Amino acid sequence: MLPFSSSGILLRRTEFGDYDWILTLLTLSQGKLSMIAKYARKSRKRFSGTLELFSEIGFIGAYPRKGGLPILQEAWIKQPFTGIRNDFERTAYASYWGELLLTWLEEGKAQTKIYHLLRYGLQSLHSGVSPGITSIVFQLYLLKFSGLSPDLERCSRCRTDLDRIPGESCGFDLAKGGLVCQNCISERSLPYPLTKGTIKQLRWIQTSRLENIDRLKFTGRAVNESLVFLEAFVPYHLGRDPKSRRFLIHVRQLRC
Ligand SMILES: [Zn+2]
Repeated sequence: MLPFSSSGILLRRTEFGDYDWILTLLTLSQGKLSMIAKYARKSRKRFSGTLELFSEIGFIGAYPRKGGLPILQEAWIKQPFTGIRNDFERTAYASYWGELLLTWLEEGKAQTKIYHLLRYGLQSLHSGVSPGITSIVFQLYLLKFSGLSPDLERCSRCRTDLDRIPGESCGFDLAKGGLVCQNCISERSLPYPLTKGTIKQLRWIQTSRLENIDRLKFTGRAVNESLVFLEAFVPYHLGRDPKSRRFLIHVRQLRC
């Protein structure tokens, strides 16, 4: 056995055989990593409540010499983020982010910035910050760290700068990854409409440091149009529609 240790955030937990779990974590040292927690289901004492979804744990794992998934040997809680699992809507947001990362990230490749972004998002959800605003920040940074930031400076077709575009709103062209003005669109309604005020706030987030974003204020309308836009743009790049996105939209409608 070749041992190693790291911090990790638990993104998925599936039953394996009669006694075990297969865990998928976003780890600090190796990025996305799947491991086996042997006898975790048979004996509650074995990992005593440490293996809950969205918890941040410290752990020791070991690679079997014959190959195969690493085996979890010890785990301890670093931050349980209990405020998330006690709340349906916050759980829906965390599940959506988790599914994005599970689909997006390569196994075994360290993603330190994305680890800290997820930790920031979970801490915000846990401590009662607006989940909608947190999800806007999470998705914009995930795109930024992946080199896929939407271009919010000008119309992607006629190249007119935002401030010179007539009217109060623009649409967004998912395929071009940029804004589209009313003059450049033949349809009556703009796709994914965003008011100029919202676009400027999104631009401010794109160019700010994560630690300066805490006091951000959005109107209800700005939150709604940003979420509709981002929850279409991010899955578009992912190439598939996460199941948890539909669940999240359903939960949000129940709250309205
Ligand atoms: Zn245009």
